[in-house]
Amino acid sequence: MSENHLLGNYNRYPVEFAFGEGAYLYDHQGSKYTDFLSGIAVTGFGHAQPDITSAVMKQLNGVWHTSNLFDSSGQKTLASTLAEKSGLDKVFFCNSGTEANEAAIKFARKWGNGRYHIITALGGFHGRTMGALSATGQPKLWNGFFPLVYGFTSVPFGVIESIKSAITPQTVAIMLEPILGEGGVIVPQNGYLTAVKELCEEHNLLLILDEVQTGMGRTGKWFAHQHDDIKPDIITLAKGIANGLPLGALICSDDVASVIKPGDHGSTFGGNPVSVAAANAVTELLTDDVLAENLELGDYFVSQLTELSLPEVLDIRGKGLMIGIQLADGISSKTVAGKLLNQGIVVGTSGDSVIRVLPPFVISKADFDHFISTFSAVLAGAEAQGVAV
Ligand code: PLP
Repeated sequence: MSENHLLGNYNRYPVEFAFGEGAYLYDHQGSKYTDFLSGIAVTGFGHAQPDITSAVMKQLNGVWHTSNLFDSSGQKTLASTLAEKSGLDKVFFCNSGTEANEAAIKFARKWGNGRYHIITALGGFHGRTMGALSATGQPKLWNGFFPLVYGFTSVPFGVIESIKSAITPQTVAIMLEPILGEGGVIVPQNGYLTAVKELCEEHNLLLILDEVQTGMGRTGKWFAHQHDDIKPDIITLAKGIANGLPLGALICSDDVASVIKPGDHGSTFGGNPVSVAAANAVTELLTDDVLAENLELGDYFVSQLTELSLPEVLDIRGKGLMIGIQLADGISSKTVAGKLLNQGIVVGTSGDSVIRVLPPFVISKADFDHFISTFSAVLAGAEAQGVAV
């Protein structure tokens, strides 16, 4: 085999998928896999969804790119849907989650008119570019990349007092994921986000919610904070918004938008017509029925798995189709994920001990039943003979 010239920044499984349909993927040998990862919470409507594919094909036969120097009816349609669904006012398009968060940091600073300090959560994740990395409360991800961008403080997630004590006269915003995704699928106690919102109002701070992973229906609402009936000032999105094509978005209030003038921010590819066509198709598919079903499917899976009381499982948590399975001490999530892959089940991990289940919305109860029986067998060491991990 010729030398591999890909940079070694990813640990990749030695499996390549050749095609996919709905919740299923097939490798080059024709082996079938059930997708419980959706490319890390991206392909919500599954692989080769016909409506999304045809919207993309239509746009591919039109224009691929014209730049943001020109009008875009696709962007306008998508922006008005996102504004309507969020109750906010204005939308900026970029290409990824980290870029949406970079925009949020810049917009908050401009709005703050001199105030610059942003409080974030320990264990949170906002991306890999320098601003988003500095907002990411995971010191292990900072190593080798100092100095970070000045002006961020990460405090324990879910503890309102820790935010209160971090507020200074320079503080301009609190930036959080409604549920920590990369940090282990950590759901805060009921009332936490409402208390954070109240704190923001009391101190004239912006509430920035990073819904890159939790947004676009994943938790059974358009946006996860809608479970708490609060309205943030800025929402950031990416991942599921275009079912796999690169697109990020920032939605904000008129108050925030009013400080951003032509030339303050931008992106060559942001809001690319092909990605936007996919996203407009996604928004049409994301009906109330789909949202309700995501909640029901997630509840079904959690209750069925909980009922088994597997000794290797310490906790099962999440909302809708964003679920984390906390394994007992000494059981490696990476090893379990590798064994599941060998059995035709694709999952994610977060850290050394959490299995992440982020299936496409088109998953079925029968798929979950299949997952549970395979997972139990893998944990019990009863996987098919000859499977090497
Ligand atoms: N924010 C959250 C909550 C994420 O989960 C991620 C990616 O995992 C990001 C931001 C970064 O998104 P991207 O990889 O598109 O830059």
